[in-house]
Amino acid sequence: MAEQEDFRRTLVHGEAALKQIKRCEVPAFPRHYELWYTYSAGFDQKLNTAINEVLRARGKVSLEETTYLYETYLSPYRLGDKLDQFGSNFSEQIETMLESLGNSIEVNSDYSSTLSELSNELGAAKNAGAVRNVVHQLVKATAVVRASHKEMEDQLKHSQTQVAELKDNLEAARFENLTDELTGLGNRRLFDQTMARKVQNSSGIGTTFCLIMLDIDHFKKFNDTWGHQTGDQVLRLVGMTIKNSISAPDIAARYGGEEFGVILPDTTLDEAIMQADHIREAIKDRKLIKRSTGEKLGNVTISAGVASFEKEDTALTLVERADAALYSAKRAGRNCVMSEKGDFDDDDRMVS
Ligand code: GH3
Ligand code: MG
Ligand code: MG
Repeated sequence: MAEQEDFRRTLVHGEAALKQIKRCEVPAFPRHYELWYTYSAGFDQKLNTAINEVLRARGKVSLEETTYLYETYLSPYRLGDKLDQFGSNFSEQIETMLESLGNSIEVNSDYSSTLSELSNELGAAKNAGAVRNVVHQLVKATAVVRASHKEMEDQLKHSQTQVAELKDNLEAARFENLTDELTGLGNRRLFDQTMARKVQNSSGIGTTFCLIMLDIDHFKKFNDTWGHQTGDQVLRLVGMTIKNSISAPDIAARYGGEEFGVILPDTTLDEAIMQADHIREAIKDRKLIKRSTGEKLGNVTISAGVASFEKEDTALTLVERADAALYSAKRAGRNCVMSEKGDFDDDDRMVS
């Protein structure tokens, strides 16, 4: 079933990609196909905005622009390139700073020898002319030192700006690497890294954290009824609603497909259940409207499972328990929250 689903969904984007390639009359290289496929699937908001701008201005995307867009948004070497570039720019800056520091040390040591020479000369000075000569040399040597200090100061200021810029670039690259392009939430990599860190920090020291796994209800039916582009918009909306329903230090990520994970540090199971129900309510209340036609699509709901970290847990066992709770929420009729303990009474309104 899922294979049939993927077949139909990907074919829509594949056909759309080929249509664009024909329209723009660019070679049907795999990378051009990837670019238009990504555009059709809407995986990368920034790429779509850039393409839409070109389309608005000129109606089609030239070969040169296609290459540029691919290099900028999709090239698999993008992140590696950026990191390489960062590394080489950073070592260039360090080299320049060290060189400047080396020069300055040399100038200071010359100055120190000049001072002791001049001190001897001053001791031996027999007349006003000789003293004047020593003072003249002193002024000259001091000017050299001052110029060298000024140069070093300028260089350090410049390097400081460059390093700050490099740091921003590195952070942007790191952010990109950990972000899910469709929803803007953290991606699976961020989820796995955060879980590993939390498990490591919590093992044996008694601090606790909770995990909520959330899954959109009957999403396949939604896709079948309204199409995958609209399905993607719903994924974005659900992602945004989860993001707006939590606050730091809680972390939300797209775990895969239409499943999300929220990690809640220093939170008890009961608090996490309340949080999950808060997210569930927020999503249930969103009225969905198809952007292109203004059609009302009704509502979408999610089910959630909550588990709390135990001393002997690994990331895997905790995810498994939250997932098991999620599936009991599905079995209980969906649009509800279940915990690994599964023991609320109806007044809790977690099961509705
Ligand atoms: P349940 O309530 O039991 O979770 O039912 P469901 O239909 O949501 O679950 P199922 O696992 O049968 O189907 C999940 C669907 O999610 C099928 C798949 O096509 C869709 N899906 C997964 N990733 C994406 C995506 O990135 N975009 C879109 N539009 N759909 C996706
Ligand atoms: Mg689902
Ligand atoms: Mg699912």
